[in-house]
Amino acid sequence: MTTTEISTLHEEVRALAAEREAVILAHNYQVPEVQDVADFVGDSLGLSREAAATDAEAIVFCGVHFMAETASILAPEKTVLIPDLDAGCSLAASITADQLRAWKAEHPGAVVVSYVNTTAEVKAESDYCCTSGNAKSVIEAIPEDREILFLPDLFLGVWLERTTGRKLKIWMGECHVHAGIRPADIERWQEEAPDAELLVHPECGCASQCMAFGNERTHILSTEGMINFAKSSPKERFLVATETGIIHRLNKEAPEKRFEAISEKAICKYMKMITLEKLRDSLRDWKHVVKVEPELAARARGAIDRMVAIT
Ligand code: SF4
Repeated sequence: MTTTEISTLHEEVRALAAEREAVILAHNYQVPEVQDVADFVGDSLGLSREAAATDAEAIVFCGVHFMAETASILAPEKTVLIPDLDAGCSLAASITADQLRAWKAEHPGAVVVSYVNTTAEVKAESDYCCTSGNAKSVIEAIPEDREILFLPDLFLGVWLERTTGRKLKIWMGECHVHAGIRPADIERWQEEAPDAELLVHPECGCASQCMAFGNERTHILSTEGMINFAKSSPKERFLVATETGIIHRLNKEAPEKRFEAISEKAICKYMKMITLEKLRDSLRDWKHVVKVEPELAARARGAIDRMVAIT
C-alpha cells in the first residue's frame, strides 16, 4: 500500500470512528498502519483497562478474539467489534473449558491460574487470571500449601517456577510464534551484538534458558515492560525476542534508539489478519460483534477482578 493510500484510509477510518463514537484499540503486534490510526496501542492488559474506562459507545478491537472477548467482559454495556472473526490465537486454542474441567477434576482443591490468552469460557472456570506483567505477583499471593494449576503457556509456567520457586502443575500449551524463538537465535545475537540489551517475552521458547545466561543484559519482560524499559534505559541498542510488530511501537516511543528483532520469522498470522481495509469495513458495516453472554461474563470477570485485587 502506498503512503497516499494509507493516509486516505486513515482519514476514512477516523471519520467513521467519530461518526460511530467508537474508540480504536490496537495491540502492540498489529501492523504499523493499524497501530498508527488507533486511539490506544498497548498490550492486552493495557487495552483491557482502556476498554473498561472508555466513554465511547463502541470499541473496535484490533487484536485477536480473546482480547475482544475480554473487552466485552469488562465493558458489557458497549458494543465490541473485531475486524476479522478468524483472528484467533494458537495459545488460547490449546485448552478448552471441557479440558480444564477434566484437569480440575484430577486435582480437587487446586487453585487455577489462567494466563489472559484464554477464551472467556476458560476464564470462567479459573480462580485467577494473569498477564505476563503480573503473573509472578499472582502466584506469590497464593498460599504456599495450595496446589496451583497454571495454564495454558508452558514456557511462561516454567519461567514462573524458576522466578517464584513454586512447583506448579503446568498445561503444555504454547504460542507458535514465541515457541519458534529458540536459544540458538539468542546465542547468535549475543555473539553478533555483544553491546546490546536483550529483551525477551516470557512466552518465548528461549525465556527460561535466557534466565540461565544470568547476565545483566538479559531482561524478561512483557511487551509493555519492554517499552518502559527501553525508554528509561541509558543503553542505545536492543535485541527484541517477541512478535515483530512491537518494533514499530518501540521505534515510535524511543526514536533515538536502535531495536532489532531476534527473529524476523516471529510473526503472528492471526494478529496480521487485521488490516486497515478490514478496520474501515468493521466501522462502516458494524461488524463483527463480539459479545460474551452475561452469566459467562460475570464468572470470567471474577477471575479478572481477583487478579486486579492483588496486583
Ligand atoms: S503471538 Fe502467540 S499468543 Fe499472541 S496472539 Fe499470536 S498466537 Fe496468540
